[in-house]
Amino acid sequence: MQTTRYEAPATVADAVRLIQADPDARLFAGGTDLLVQYRMGVHRPSAFIDLKRIPELVGIAVDARGLRLGAATAAAVITEHREVSRLWPGLVEAVHLVGSTQIQGRGTIGGNLCNGSPAADTTAPLIVNRARCVIVGPEGERIVNAEDFVIAPGATVLQRGEMLVAVLIPRPAGRTADAYLRLIPRSEMDIAVAGAAVSVTLDAAGVCTAARVAIAAVAPRPLLVPDAAQALIGSTLDDESLRRAAAAASAAATPIDDKRGTVAYRRQVVGVLTRRAASMAGARAGAQK
Ligand SMILES: Cc1cc2nc3c(=O)[nH]c(=O)nc-3n(C[C@H](O)[C@H](O)[C@H](O)COP(=O)(O)OP(=O)(O)OC[C@H]3O[C@@H](n4cnc5c(N)ncnc54)[C@H](O)[C@@H]3O)c2cc1C
Repeated sequence: MQTTRYEAPATVADAVRLIQADPDARLFAGGTDLLVQYRMGVHRPSAFIDLKRIPELVGIAVDARGLRLGAATAAAVITEHREVSRLWPGLVEAVHLVGSTQIQGRGTIGGNLCNGSPAADTTAPLIVNRARCVIVGPEGERIVNAEDFVIAPGATVLQRGEMLVAVLIPRPAGRTADAYLRLIPRSEMDIAVAGAAVSVTLDAAGVCTAARVAIAAVAPRPLLVPDAAQALIGSTLDDESLRRAAAAASAAATPIDDKRGTVAYRRQVVGVLTRRAASMAGARAGAQK
């Protein structure tokens, strides 16, 4: 019978050494994706390398430059952080949607990203907030934008021996806010049929001066949609600009048919979610002094 080792490195360097030395070892954060896959026989790792004992990977820091989220920070720690909730309400509402209280106690922001699911709830909000992913591997450190991190279902830019250490998010400009919405077939604990994250910046007159739109679960990976953002910029987020943003999001979607929804349904829904998320983000930005 194959045995699986458990390793608990205390430093990033030790973790990198362990995964570099053994290609069959798997990094283990909360285990809420990994253990399900293990039980289903998708992976038979030679070792689980627990990341939660590495201080650099766990915790939240907010300063004048922005936010640093350690990759192995649990969802519950993020949703309970008042300053993060104030500055990035859309990101926090996405984190809060992941699974249940139990899942949020274990599951991490880095695990959600590194699992590479097109339907991951936190990836699109990270993208609209211009998150940068800090990756460390045998060659040292490199930074990858969140929109480039997932490359295909279950696949990321991480190379052998590399791990995600943190995500960095710049502090939002004044009158900037985000929002995230998803649709699931049940009231909770399901995978998104479609998701949309939007960040907008408004000037004093309520005109949108900057925007980012990203969509989830409707393409092989979470997708930045510049055309949808363009539809919002220069507008007061009036009905016509929201309609054009929705149409751009629907046009960018290349979804699959499955038991959760058809291609046509997912395209339609992602447009609706984009319009509503843009409206929510606009209302939040407009409410700021
Ligand atoms: C009942 C249930 C409900 C769920 N509901 C949702 C939901 O609503 N929305 C949603 O998006 N997800 C959901 N999930 C999926 C899962 O909980 C999340 O994706 C979670 O954030 C994964 O984090 P984790 O720390 O548990 O990852 P793990 O399972 O520990 O790891 C996931 C993958 O990422 C890799 N990895 C982890 N951390 C790193 C790192 N720092 N560097 C490199 N690779 C790393 C692992 O090797 C593994 O391949 C659900 C899961 C369950 C079981």
